[in-house]
Amino acid sequence: MEFRALEKRELRASIGDYWTSDAGITRRIDSLSQYFAYKVVNRAWRIVGDHNGAKWLRWRDMGDARVCLQCQRYAAGGRRGYYYIHWFMPEMPVHLGCRCQWEIIFREPEFLRQMRLTGNL
Ligand SMILES: [Zn+2]
Repeated sequence: MEFRALEKRELRASIGDYWTSDAGITRRIDSLSQYFAYKVVNRAWRIVGDHNGAKWLRWRDMGDARVCLQCQRYAAGGRRGYYYIHWFMPEMPVHLGCRCQWEIIFREPEFLRQMRLTGNL
């Protein structure tokens, strides 16, 4: 037990050293710049869709085991993952390391067309 506690302390200390080292700071800056670059790209994607006549965007997660619950929720949100382009919609990326992307939908899926025609949107 004593040994494990010591191991944990040493591990914590070395992690602390890493994130304040040149390599750690560079990695954090890289991570943040990637986050902001994705934010700009995803905002631009919405504008591109709107200016080209698209009415829907679809939240696409990577569909693998690493997708977090929050991203899964957004990918199933809106109308089964589709968001009308003029609705309030969640910002992407959701978090550092988020790999989700907006897909521009030019052709309205049949279930959305039916919902719209029956006034259920
Ligand atoms: Zn995500």
